Amino acid sequence: MDKVRVRFPPSPTGYLHIGGLRSALYNYLFAKKNGGIFILKIEDTDRKRFVEGAVESLISSLDWAGLDRDEGVFMKNHSPSPESLKTTESENYPGVIEAGNFGPYIQSERLDLYKKYAEELVGSGKAYYCFCEQDRLDKIKEEKIASKQAPMYDRYCLKNVTPEEINEKLKSNCAYTIRLKVPNDEIIEFEDLVRGKVSINSNTIDDQVLMKSDGFPTYHLASVIDDHLMRTTHVIRGEEWLPSTPKHILLYRAFGWEIPEFAHLPLLLSTDKKKLSKRMGDVAVEDYIKNGYLKEAIINFVALLGWHPGEGETQEIYSLDELEKIFDIKRVHKAGAVFDLKKLDWLNAQYIKKLSSDELYEKALPFFEQKDFYINASSEKKSEEYLKKVLTIERERLNNFSEVGENNRFFFMDIEYGREMLRWKDMSDEALKDSLEKSVTVLGGIDGQDWQVKNIEEKLFAAAGDKKGDLLWPLRVALSGAQKSPSPMELAWVLGKEESLLRLKNALGKLG
Ligand code: GLU
Repeated sequence: MDKVRVRFPPSPTGYLHIGGLRSALYNYLFAKKNGGIFILKIEDTDRKRFVEGAVESLISSLDWAGLDRDEGVFMKNHSPSPESLKTTESENYPGVIEAGNFGPYIQSERLDLYKKYAEELVGSGKAYYCFCEQDRLDKIKEEKIASKQAPMYDRYCLKNVTPEEINEKLKSNCAYTIRLKVPNDEIIEFEDLVRGKVSINSNTIDDQVLMKSDGFPTYHLASVIDDHLMRTTHVIRGEEWLPSTPKHILLYRAFGWEIPEFAHLPLLLSTDKKKLSKRMGDVAVEDYIKNGYLKEAIINFVALLGWHPGEGETQEIYSLDELEKIFDIKRVHKAGAVFDLKKLDWLNAQYIKKLSSDELYEKALPFFEQKDFYINASSEKKSEEYLKKVLTIERERLNNFSEVGENNRFFFMDIEYGREMLRWKDMSDEALKDSLEKSVTVLGGIDGQDWQVKNIEEKLFAAAGDKKGDLLWPLRVALSGAQKSPSPMELAWVLGKEESLLRLKNALGKLG
């Protein structure tokens, strides 16, 4: 078999969609597993949907995810391309470079090529010029729909325009498109690596536009020419492209080129089994980064969207290294993959638990810095030591970093609460006062090194005897001012002795 060459060809229409990341990841893993080449190219011929800055952001998102390319498009000052490759600066995107022997890797820099190949097809009678104006095309479409026929082009220009007329129109710069002359009654069949045999009759395919009147190629033409010239061996892409594949196969046939293998990845579905879309929440990888998901968790999650290593395999946690070894395209499912945010949260929580205290602090700090309760806190409460303590308590319950401190704002702010909250069940005023005073005595007797959760707990439990609630509830409320919080020993440990005693004093003050 030829050396495996796969590609990820996003369109710069905004952001890297989570489904795009999955396509990129599966291509990357397939290349790694087979000792092949992973190429990034950019499909920017749809000028109407082009978004400024999207090319750079797509590249950066792949860099962030650690999906290194062997060839194609890179940012100049990040993720350098393999040194052995010929490198050029992109004509259209400053700061972007292209590395490899089959470039340019950006479609807007390959326009001449597409034109040349489209004209070649016209020359060999496999494609034809179409001068029909939009109004006419709209009209035929309406008529066909009204008479319950497929809204296909009626081949007016193929049947009625003579070679002389064509030359004249071209000379006088009439706007035109180039259409593929789709053969009649041909069976187009291919073996999809995921879906098995796919078969379709060419009569159901419209004469595809290959070159648009603005001189840009359509996706179909550009995609096939690139995949051929870039020696793509496997086209791995989302299922939404499955209807395009027969058209591409017709193009390969028209050119007389070898056809690559295809694998179409299952649709991503929301938990109510509808196609995942922007309306249902975040679909941009950037949003997940912004919300404090770790790259390891996102990669792990995305890897399992439509793929699993085997029946009966219960392992859920996979590193990128591990995936590179075990990924098998044959194990990609046909059925839609449900995008379950709860699973992502769970995975992210697992990765958060594994971070060292320094890593946890480093990752969490930028998220604290965006929060008002942190910005307005005293310098002591902003210190590394203090935040590390907060995080020690929070890490077991964190799903993502945007949650840091959110449920425990009392670590950073002055607390306010009504005195009744201090009361455990129906304890009397006197018992409540005794309870808080007992806490003052217990905590007041613990010094320096002994100020540890375990030790605080032992001392409090010993003092509480069999009436734990009587001692612990008022203490917890005195320290947090909240109905729900971590345990009083954890609260005391984070706040420190001085602040804990101060909060207890304030609680006693409320009793009058
Ligand atoms: N530009 C297409 C996209 O944005 C690529 C489809 C393909 O892989 O052929 O997904």
